[in-house]
Amino acid sequence: MKSEKKSSTSAEDSFGLFSDESHMRAALRLAERAAAEGEVPVGAVAVKDGAVIAKAWNQVEMLKDATAHAEILVLTAAANAIGDWRMDGVTVFVTKEPCAMCAGAMVNARVERVVYGLADPRCGACGSALDVTGFKGMLHNVAVRGGVLEPECKALMQEFFRKARVRGAKTAKPEKGNSTAEEEGKGKR
Ligand SMILES: [Zn+2]
Repeated sequence: MKSEKKSSTSAEDSFGLFSDESHMRAALRLAERAAAEGEVPVGAVAVKDGAVIAKAWNQVEMLKDATAHAEILVLTAAANAIGDWRMDGVTVFVTKEPCAMCAGAMVNARVERVVYGLADPRCGACGSALDVTGFKGMLHNVAVRGGVLEPECKALMQEFFRKARVRGAKTAKPEKGNSTAEEEGKGKR
């Protein structure tokens, strides 16, 4: 028997709000892995038809490659998984707002939607500092939802930079006027 009245839970679920959160949790676990490997903690998953098709985390230090952001690596892995560079119907979940490079890659890959956690007012290219994903002159626009599990994503980032500062203080003399808040605000990867 079908009930006419939907609970708020099933109503929200039908809009994908809860599945956005669960996929962001998976991205957060990958970001934690990045942090454990000494990388700036950013994790990403690619989802098609409700299933995770690719996972990645930031590996700039390990690969010694400035382009090895989680989003770029997840796009490559997703292309391998589906056998096509076109990401029709694919949503990318990433713990931090993509930079200009990654937002541009998502446009070129025709990603349908990007969901990010922590906004990046200084370098974010999904509407914060720049709007690469929504720029009208682009061949394709990517739908954006930001702020999913933002407190958790932010806490992970802050903890990483706090520990990095402690390590830095043990191995080097602190420089005067070297603002730690500024470093965080840069959204370095
Ligand atoms: Zn990036």
